[in-house]
Amino acid sequence: MDSQGFREAATATIDEIITYFDTLASRNVVSSVEPGYLRKLLPAEAPQDGEPWAAIQQDMEAKIMPGITHWSHPGFHAFFPCATSYPSILGELYSSALSGACFNWICSPAVTELETVVLDWLAKALGLPACFLSTGPTRGGGVIQGSASEAVLTAMVAARDKYLRETVPDTLEEGEREERVMVKRSRMVALATTLTHSSAKKAALILGCRFRAVRVREEDGYALTKAGLKAALEECKAQGLEPFFLAATLGTTDVCSVDDFEGISEALAEYVSPGEPGEVWVHVDAAYAGAALVCPEVQESTRIGLISRFHSFDMNMHKWLLVNFDASCFFVRDREWLVQALSVNQAVYGNKASDGGLVTDYREWQIPLGRRFRSLKIWFVLRSYGVKGLQEYIRRTIANGESFAEALRGRSDLFEIVTGPSFALTVFRLAAKTEGAPLEERNALTRALYEKVNATGKIWLTSTELDGRFAIRLMTAVRTTEKEHIETAVKTLVEVAEEVMRG
Ligand code: PLP
Repeated sequence: MDSQGFREAATATIDEIITYFDTLASRNVVSSVEPGYLRKLLPAEAPQDGEPWAAIQQDMEAKIMPGITHWSHPGFHAFFPCATSYPSILGELYSSALSGACFNWICSPAVTELETVVLDWLAKALGLPACFLSTGPTRGGGVIQGSASEAVLTAMVAARDKYLRETVPDTLEEGEREERVMVKRSRMVALATTLTHSSAKKAALILGCRFRAVRVREEDGYALTKAGLKAALEECKAQGLEPFFLAATLGTTDVCSVDDFEGISEALAEYVSPGEPGEVWVHVDAAYAGAALVCPEVQESTRIGLISRFHSFDMNMHKWLLVNFDASCFFVRDREWLVQALSVNQAVYGNKASDGGLVTDYREWQIPLGRRFRSLKIWFVLRSYGVKGLQEYIRRTIANGESFAEALRGRSDLFEIVTGPSFALTVFRLAAKTEGAPLEERNALTRALYEKVNATGKIWLTSTELDGRFAIRLMTAVRTTEKEHIETAVKTLVEVAEEVMRG
């Protein structure tokens, strides 16, 4: 494809993308293809001769679109959103044109420097304590990771390294130190809760660490409390285990609960004083709900300032902040914790700027080596919307969640709210005449409602299970979802619920 061919193809593609967004609501939310559908539609081998763009583009609608589930559809109420917006798409376009594996500053100084600047902008917009800024008092800073899963893994690697550095003397002879480290590693345990995202457990699996999930309870709003954490720390101690890491959550995936940051820091302070060798590293996973911190009222209600006592924080702009996948923004209180754990030198990557120590080489803050120019799309979104535009969007989606919950409350003969609305997520189940019925029966009825509603294709919901109760989650945070779509969701739910109740 030459320049002129690209100009024409790009224009046609952009036109098609705009039409896609403009007509999105007319599609079914979830793809209904059968497994293996695509192999039947495509040749067994790549073409020997190149094909014209028009033929390739045609296959997007004919062959690919049927297999797409539309995450930007106004009726997408499943999981959490996966954002996109026009400024973000433009950022991706430039990023793919300026392709490079920008692991060191010198690989493209703008890639590193823009990332540092926009992550400071973001930290300020979210009201994070100054210790997470690159210009802050503790030499902290942010780095873009591919996902919240990568972020928790990176945090856990750094936490393990920090713990071992602090608790195994480096004055020991090398062989002996290695032995002591390996023995200690076998006693170290990462803590989380029963509602922490599975990525924390996966990180522990990858690192070969022990893992304990503290049970969170309905009466505590499904949050980790001081008492819960204290009991877990005592139990670990009694078993001769050494907790070194805790994944705390702001906005759990199932119900959007928020762990008690104050209680956590009190329990930990009683265990090992903050800043003392062997303190427990606290990572705050705010993958989804962290976006809402752009609103000052959310900064206040979550008391986000308390996380200055913790070690790392991560939120995905690609969930609820209008930047498309991938843009997981990971902040640490002291960047040296990452560098010490992850800096492995190889002659081929040496250069004057890095050796001079005046620049940031983000390869030392992450697991992969190469990295894309991801800060461009963040920059474009922050500039195009402005913090005020982002606040408006977040508030609108939260208000939609409240309207939805209000409508359910108005039909308490049919529905019972289990949790929420919290950060635009409501969790509910069938109520009314199922009250007093055996749990399995209530679960089966709610499941029937869930499956029948999803089968309509108009909206897409996901479910969860809380203490054995099957419940439906409905999230209202997608950019295209407006009041009228909430009304459609309520209408569909009411119609199907009445049908299910009739039997
Ligand atoms: N943490 C929480 C609270 C989540 O809800 C999710 C995904 O929804 C994740 C982590 C994992 O996110 P990622 O896909 O970026 O790894």
